[in-house]
Amino acid sequence: MLDADFFRRWMAATAAAVDRESARLTELDSPIGDADHGSNLQRGFTAVRATLDKDAPDTPGAVLTLAGRQLISTVGGASGPLYGTLLRRTGKTLGDAAQVSEAELAQALRVGVDAVAALGGAAPGDKTMLDALVPAVEALDGGDFAAARSAAEHGAEATTPLQARKGRASYLGERSIGHQDPGATSSALLIAALAETAG
Ligand code: ADP
Ligand code: MG
Ligand code: MG
Repeated sequence: MLDADFFRRWMAATAAAVDRESARLTELDSPIGDADHGSNLQRGFTAVRATLDKDAPDTPGAVLTLAGRQLISTVGGASGPLYGTLLRRTGKTLGDAAQVSEAELAQALRVGVDAVAALGGAAPGDKTMLDALVPAVEALDGGDFAAARSAAEHGAEATTPLQARKGRASYLGERSIGHQDPGATSSALLIAALAETAG
């Protein structure tokens, strides 16, 4: 079973990964975006870490809803509302249980990813974060965190030959081909941090 501490450690591991990879995320966002993805997420997850340290929510659902709200209010770019929705909807789906099973988390994440698709109007193949998140929740299937991590990483890499159909990169049309999507790359970091936390 996974308790609030597990979810706080997942968010802290994500914040650490975003700190470590911030320059790379921003670099990926230069040719097909506005070169701010790393700094957007760094600002967001730094705020998430601070809020979770201060408020120390005591259920898995409360950790994720608070983290999601914090991302929505601190990240200006497209990725803030999208990641915020992912975490908030996943958290709301977990409800107020003190502990949740791996299978419950897998199911809740699926609801969260569906909410991202609904909000952004994107589907797998559009060269967005969904190209990492959708394969990850499919591979997670009840709790295989390592499989979810590699599915997300492969999904992010597989965005390179795609033409973007959503977000800022879509303005480039065919010129978006040949670059890995920054949001899919950061989604792979989020899922890798989950696998790392699950140990
Ligand atoms: P902005 O584009 O506003 O500067 P960011 O650079 O932080 O925001 O985030 C860009 C990432 O957001 C993209 O790489 C893509 O993965 C994701 N994204 C953008 N629009 C959508 C959408 N409609 N649905 C899903 N993901 C999206
Ligand atoms: Mg950007
Ligand atoms: Mg921007």
